[in-house]
Amino acid sequence: MQSMSPGWSQLVRLMTGMGLAPFWAWAGGIAGGATTPAPPSSMVPVTGPDMDRISSRLGIRFEVPVTTYSSSDDGWTYAGKRPPTPLLESMRRLTVNEIARYPRPLVKLAGLKRVVILRGITLDGASRGTTYSTEQGTLYVDVDDLYTGGQEYMRQVIHHETFHMLDTFAGTVEADPVWNALNRKGFKYGKGGESMQDDPSAGVYTLKYPGFLNRYSTSGQEEDKAEVFSTAITVPGYMLQRSRKDPVLAKKLRLMDQRLKQWGAVPKGWPQLKG
Ligand SMILES: [Zn+2]
Repeated sequence: MQSMSPGWSQLVRLMTGMGLAPFWAWAGGIAGGATTPAPPSSMVPVTGPDMDRISSRLGIRFEVPVTTYSSSDDGWTYAGKRPPTPLLESMRRLTVNEIARYPRPLVKLAGLKRVVILRGITLDGASRGTTYSTEQGTLYVDVDDLYTGGQEYMRQVIHHETFHMLDTFAGTVEADPVWNALNRKGFKYGKGGESMQDDPSAGVYTLKYPGFLNRYSTSGQEEDKAEVFSTAITVPGYMLQRSRKDPVLAKKLRLMDQRLKQWGAVPKGWPQLKG
């Protein structure tokens, strides 16, 4: 089992998940001063071994801008820059490996048509990190998350955000009474992921909140589900271990498993549940 000790990557995970830029991004912004955003450049396919085969199997384009990216989707302006070549190549390999784990029915349900690899993703000018647009069917992956958080964190972020896309199209992202009913009587979620941006420990795995993987999961049912999904797919042994000792988490994992099977199939590496 991979080590799940809380640490720097978890803190960065929280920072970036909450839209907070790592300190060097702030420093860069200050050093660079206020600048007018460069006009968006054209997009080119991400190249590498097996890219065509994976793209056509899943019906997904992998793209990168020649220099800069900007697009208005879902009422927001998504922007970013082309990553430097070594980071782009690391991210290409990691992203393709993770996305290739999805069976085609899940990709279709998520409405995922395009993966754009960027550096320094912003939403309406505010630092955001890896995110998605349901309107464009686009997953925006940010190499800064990989650079600052490491591979394990990056893998979890990709699946966390992809799950939000799945949940949106499944119609359960806003309200999910079946999921909510698994929590202990009287439990109420918080005010959503953004409400925890002043608590840098929220994303760290902990046993402190029975029924939940971490405090971030208590912020909203949509974050709770995305955390169960991304944890189960990236560290299945850890997820099974937690659910063996926590009946609520076990029920959540089982419901997630049932839903994935109803939606078409589970991703590669998904934990096998007994019984
Ligand atoms: Zn989320």
